[in-house]
Amino acid sequence: MCSIFESTIYPDPESEKAIMGSVVYCIHHKEGCQWSDELRKLKAHLNTCKHDAVLCAAHCGAMIPRVLMQDHLRYTCPRRRANCEHCHTEFSGSALEEHQGNCGHEPIYCENKCGAKVQRRHTQQHLQQHCSKRLVPCRHCGQKYTQDTVCAHGEGCARAPVPCPQRCAAPVPRDLLDAHLRDHCTAAALPCSFRDAGCRFKGSRQAVERHTEESCAQHLCLVSAVAARQARQLDALRAAVARLSLNCTGALVWRIADWTAKMAEAKCKDGVELVSPAFYTSQYGYKLQASLFLNGNGAGESTHMSVYIKILPGEYDALLRWPFAHTVSFTLFDQSSSPDRACNIVESFVPDPTWKNFQRPSKEPDALGFGFPRFVSHEMLKKRNFVKDDIMFLRVKVDPSKIVAV
Ligand SMILES: [Zn+2]
Ligand SMILES: [Zn+2]
Ligand SMILES: [Zn+2]
Ligand SMILES: [Zn+2]
Ligand SMILES: [Zn+2]
Ligand SMILES: [Zn+2]
Ligand SMILES: [Zn+2]
Repeated sequence: MCSIFESTIYPDPESEKAIMGSVVYCIHHKEGCQWSDELRKLKAHLNTCKHDAVLCAAHCGAMIPRVLMQDHLRYTCPRRRANCEHCHTEFSGSALEEHQGNCGHEPIYCENKCGAKVQRRHTQQHLQQHCSKRLVPCRHCGQKYTQDTVCAHGEGCARAPVPCPQRCAAPVPRDLLDAHLRDHCTAAALPCSFRDAGCRFKGSRQAVERHTEESCAQHLCLVSAVAARQARQLDALRAAVARLSLNCTGALVWRIADWTAKMAEAKCKDGVELVSPAFYTSQYGYKLQASLFLNGNGAGESTHMSVYIKILPGEYDALLRWPFAHTVSFTLFDQSSSPDRACNIVESFVPDPTWKNFQRPSKEPDALGFGFPRFVSHEMLKKRNFVKDDIMFLRVKVDPSKIVAV
């Protein structure tokens, strides 16, 4: 069958000749081969057609168009021989591909982003020793900073030593400078410890010590001047306090304590006079003082207790009316435990304008004043509770009206 068929379809040599003689394009026409000729010459052309694929000359097994063979052998053939551009070691193509990305000589950017490019094999050393972004401790405070900022930090670091402004020997950590100047600096100008007394000396610690030893007399003068000044101030203060505590109500309740002892003294000595605190009849009024003779004087001597009032020179005398014309009353309080049954002793008088005791007093009044030599008898004193717990209360009251008030 087959042979019959073959003989049946075997081409006619004439027509074959015609076919082989027909003009065709190279099968790689579309890839760019411009060859065109009789079909019978095609096979020979393909042996040299630049676009026809042939086995790789390096025997990698790939079919490569002739036109690309040179590139293939140079760049992509796994069996090519090539040098690493960084380390210049020769590799086969596939080994080079593996080598790339691992080559120790390839420069790569620092992973700390310091901007430096370093060969891969030196990156550890760079990170540890040279990288400007590596952390290094400040040599003063020990805090860690990147290498490119540690200097700037160090200039302001609180622990950085600075020279003492007083130029003593040692530099001092900045944060201890205040304490140093205050307590430790050997060159600081310290004030003399008698500064408050007025000594102006200043110097180093040693100089002050020497000065203190040498200046005893001078310091003593200063201190004594201070004491004198303070004494004057105390006097002024006492006067101010006395002025502030002055009684200006026109009424004085005079508390006489230690009565028994005072009475005993009055009995054995002549003329023992007790004087009350001074008081004013009003803020700018007359200045008065009461006096008391426990054992009496004048007509009441040895039998009565006598009371008097006298006018002292006051600060506003120049503005006041003279003679003094106010009613004055004395009240001796009965300190009975039941106030209803208390029986006070009251005496009062209206000043006599002719009596010299009521004229404006001189600077040195020695007058006895005006009052009652027989204010209350010693017998009467014993009868009621005029003295209780060894205390007696006597009120002296000045009434601005002239009417006798009882
Ligand atoms: Zn071709
Ligand atoms: Zn190849
Ligand atoms: Zn390499
Ligand atoms: Zn770096
Ligand atoms: Zn620091
Ligand atoms: Zn110092
Ligand atoms: Zn001094």
